[in-house]
Amino acid sequence: MYCPKIQIDLKKLEHNVKTIIDLCKKKDIEVAGVTKVFCGHPEIAKAYIDGGVSYLADSRVENLIKLKQFKLPKILLRLPMISEVEKVVEYSDISLNSELRTIKELSKAAVQKGKIHKIILMVDLGDLREGYFDEDEIYEVVEEILNLKGIELLGIGTNLTCYGGVIPSQENLGKLMEIGKNIEDRFNINLDIISGGNSSSLHLLLKDNKIEGINMLRLGESLILGLETAYGNRIENTYDDVFQLVVEIIEVKEKPSLPIGEIGKDAFGKIPQFEDKGIRKRMIAAIGKQDIDFDTIVPEDSKITILGGSSDHLILDGTDSEIDYKVGDKLWFKLSYGGILSIMTSEYVKKEII
Ligand SMILES: *Cc1c(COP(=O)(O)O)cnc(C)c1O
Repeated sequence: MYCPKIQIDLKKLEHNVKTIIDLCKKKDIEVAGVTKVFCGHPEIAKAYIDGGVSYLADSRVENLIKLKQFKLPKILLRLPMISEVEKVVEYSDISLNSELRTIKELSKAAVQKGKIHKIILMVDLGDLREGYFDEDEIYEVVEEILNLKGIELLGIGTNLTCYGGVIPSQENLGKLMEIGKNIEDRFNINLDIISGGNSSSLHLLLKDNKIEGINMLRLGESLILGLETAYGNRIENTYDDVFQLVVEIIEVKEKPSLPIGEIGKDAFGKIPQFEDKGIRKRMIAAIGKQDIDFDTIVPEDSKITILGGSSDHLILDGTDSEIDYKVGDKLWFKLSYGGILSIMTSEYVKKEII
């Protein structure tokens, strides 16, 4: 068995996707499956498609290129760079936008390629990441966009919680719907899409709150981990172990819990602190901070504790475990969303799909 590896269970992933899509369907909401956490890996994206997503969405064009074999419409989530508009128009059908200068460049690129590129205008409802903050500016920009060739205004959207931690509510999403209605009335157009955020908007569906008018959510973490991310609650009938990390033990020894000698800075420039627990069974596993932030992994064996480590070593305390671990044994971990993201990005960790 090659280690370290991340094991990805596609059956469990498809199950999560189906559960959440059922919830969304009841409210006439379509799901864009967000693929960035697994770097747009096509085999994993296929589980999203089999589970019933309506769109594939990623923040990076490089990942969308990996997904080009799939017919579903593709959404670029991060605002396009002007320097990449040709690729954006080539590999995404829809992009999220908040800068007229960029939209004009997308228009030129689309015209050159004889394509129509669709855009969703982003509105900042207070989370202070991307989007128009000034409402009047939105209407001015819409007027200009409607005159651009090669661009279709598909709708409006928002992103919440990711930066400012602002939780989606009937009030802030209500504002989005009001802006949508104003655009439709003022310009006598129809907006196909009101994209009401990410996994942090799901709590509104679970509590049966009305978010009528929202007809798309862009979901990543909820599909991957079965979590609504506003309050961090589990969604019923989902798995939290679709992705699991497997590492190999390379040393097991009884050692004191306090280092011996004068304490300076560790490999990452910090002065470490230790608690004296006497002699402990310490284990080293072959994975390090280059691959993963240790705060984002949780041992499946709950009696093991993570002591720390360095760029290539994970140090664990196995004293309290019922299992008598030996060199060469494997250890399994669950991962948070951030943990999966960095492990999937590490070229030193094998990706094993089951
Ligand atoms: C990453 C991202 C999402 C998905 O967020 P989750 O919390 O993983 O559901 C949605 N929209 C945008 C713009 C994103 O960048």
